[in-house]
Amino acid sequence: MEAAFWQRLDEIITKTVRPMAARCDEESLFCGESVQALADAGFMGLPYPPELGGRGSSYESYVRCVERLSKACPSVGVTYATHVGLACHPLHAFGSPMQKESFLRPMLRGDKLGAFALTEPEAGSDVGGIATTAELDGGFYIINGHKIFITNAGRADIYILFARTGGQGTEGLSAFAVCSNDAGLLISAPQRKMGIRGAQTCELFFRNLCI
Ligand SMILES: Cc1cc2nc3c(=O)[nH]c(=O)nc-3n(C[C@H](O)[C@H](O)[C@H](O)COP(=O)(O)OP(=O)(O)OC[C@H]3O[C@@H](n4cnc5c(N)ncnc54)[C@H](O)[C@@H]3O)c2cc1C
Repeated sequence: MEAAFWQRLDEIITKTVRPMAARCDEESLFCGESVQALADAGFMGLPYPPELGGRGSSYESYVRCVERLSKACPSVGVTYATHVGLACHPLHAFGSPMQKESFLRPMLRGDKLGAFALTEPEAGSDVGGIATTAELDGGFYIINGHKIFITNAGRADIYILFARTGGQGTEGLSAFAVCSNDAGLLISAPQRKMGIRGAQTCELFFRNLCI
């Protein structure tokens, strides 16, 4: 990544991220101002191709960016990495052309924030234990289940959701892109944490969400 871009990142860190860090953590205040500054400066699509609206930088640049942000404010680092790494990547790697246009492009532009909904009360390290189901019914999937510890929940526009469409274990899982305003998605109040409190973490409940 060129020197001017690193300089811009350092400016954002100095002017916005670092000055807000203590307050965001003490008051559990979402680090939205810092995220907006990163979006405005074109950091949300860093390691993705320009033809999709990304910056076309290396993955290493993205990792170094997360490192610098996290040193100044871990909440911003986690929020940013969840969007760029966890939420954008599945759409880029596996999304259909329609999903890339409708979801990924605005995410890379920084117009929409992403979240990644994998963990459940009985499925953390062992994702093969996921119990959320997506059942095919007349051309639509009906999703029911419960997710916990979801970073950016309540702030995100797009949720990459993992649910069971087949048999047991990881082979029976599929990923879906769910919008924050889809009927049947319920979001809890922010979960209380011991740190990184400027990043918002909530539970998600899916009640007959139709996709
Ligand atoms: C702040 C925060 C943000 C998060 N954000 C997200 C998010 O955005 N999206 C999301 O989907 N999830 C998120 N998570 C969840 C996170 O991914 C899980 O906490 C993690 O996968 C571990 O799962 P678990 O908490 O159920 O712990 P467990 O899987 O129950 O593990 C507990 C302990 O047992 C150990 N352990 C587990 N299995 C084994 C084994 N087979 N052998 C030896 N040791 C083992 C683990 O290393 C760990 O120390 C977040 C969590 C936190 C704390």
